[in-house]
Amino acid sequence: MTTLINPATEDVLAEIAEHDEAATDAAVAVAVAAQEEWSRVAPGDRAMLLRRFAAQVDEHVEELARLEVANAGHPIGNARWEAGNVRDVLNYYSGAPERPHGETIPVTGGVAMTFAEPVGVVGVIVPWNFPMPIAGWAFAPALAAGNSVVLKPAELTPLTALRLGELALAAGLPEGVLQILPGRGSVVGERLVSHPSVRKVVFTGSTEVGKQVMRGCADQVKRVTLELGGKNAAIVFADADLEVAAAALPGGSFDNSGQDCCARSRLLVQRDVMDDVLAALEPVVAAITVGDPADPDTVMGPMISARQRDVVSGYLQESEVLLRGSCPTGAGFWSAPTVVRAHGPGDPTFTEEIFGPVVSVLPFTDEAEAIAMANDTDYGLAGSIWSRDVGRALRVARGVRAGNLSVNSNAAVRHNTPFGGFGQSGLGRELGPHALEAFTETKTVFVSTD
Ligand code: NAD
Repeated sequence: MTTLINPATEDVLAEIAEHDEAATDAAVAVAVAAQEEWSRVAPGDRAMLLRRFAAQVDEHVEELARLEVANAGHPIGNARWEAGNVRDVLNYYSGAPERPHGETIPVTGGVAMTFAEPVGVVGVIVPWNFPMPIAGWAFAPALAAGNSVVLKPAELTPLTALRLGELALAAGLPEGVLQILPGRGSVVGERLVSHPSVRKVVFTGSTEVGKQVMRGCADQVKRVTLELGGKNAAIVFADADLEVAAAALPGGSFDNSGQDCCARSRLLVQRDVMDDVLAALEPVVAAITVGDPADPDTVMGPMISARQRDVVSGYLQESEVLLRGSCPTGAGFWSAPTVVRAHGPGDPTFTEEIFGPVVSVLPFTDEAEAIAMANDTDYGLAGSIWSRDVGRALRVARGVRAGNLSVNSNAAVRHNTPFGGFGQSGLGRELGPHALEAFTETKTVFVSTD
């Protein structure tokens, strides 16, 4: 059993049964049979069932959001967006089964055509930081392409995934097409990687475990998508609207208490305006309301666990704190939003993914140095460029090696655009118009006309 703790109160929330290896094998066997049936469902009916699933999620947005507030400490406004994102992603991919997937290619002596065949059973392994959206980004296109899905939520945050599994059944999806299997990474997660009938794994989590998953998939030449860590830079040029850039900091760096792979945890500021940027940030950081995630005015909730909070305080012990907001004391895993000055480009706050509400600042001199500093990392997930010079902003966006960049914005994820990382931030892309390619195999069939 896993005991779930409300991170804002430290109260026990629920006890959840953990699946073992035998239960995982049984679920995969069910998924194999369900996938054969699901892939034969007429495209229009599959589309309709996904739309019904989206409608079920829509009807239960508030319930799902409240579950996430209690289980993960997400502020209620964020949690409603996250549940709504599952609905939107389902609706977006519900269009896919009825759209053309193949091509006809003229060849000598006949015609060749391609089919996009489902890969079969897809194993989805989800982290605790965004339990709902990350699950939906994988299961919606996987199901649309005719696969069945066995999904393992993170040990700390299984509740919304379990509820989504029930809503899929309520929508009329056949039994076994989407199964939710809470359990340990070292048990259920590893078995999804090693099970020969699981033909594709979507893993979102730490780079360290992602490498292990990739090694495991190699044994069976199993398809794998990896969405891993990030150490993303926000680059602020002297010609930017500094007030606007500063006002965007809470959303870009402290959203979800910084437990976000896309968090702008490095702030690169053109040297001449460093003092102005820090002055603009001071009231913004001070105004961030950290507290009860069920309160609609709360901007930042607690950290997910005592362990994660202690990781953050460990980094802060060695740091020069420039700005610090406030947070509750007493029960709950609290950490205040903090801006620190990096001792140099090798400072751990500037190089390591802290996964907490900490932004590490360094100055740069010119465009070339800003790009070089932003790229001085093994990661490459996201980033922002702040400048009124659109030509410069585009040059820098092309120069930074990361999968998702925003100009004069911190937005990183949209369901209708591709999302994923360069370098050790991952492999493959999720979301957007091409996501189904990651869940299908191309088959070429030649028909002789002679
Ligand atoms: P984690 O790697 O510890 O765990 C992620 C998932 O993998 C969990 O479900 C866990 O149970 C499972 N797991 C653990 N060991 C496993 C194993 N040996 N085999 C198979 N599965 C295993 O990560 P976390 O601490 O839950 O999440 C935080 C990390 O996730 C951060 O590094 C963050 O950057 C990353 N993340 C990336 C993205 C992205 O889209 N790039 C999104 C969110 C989070």
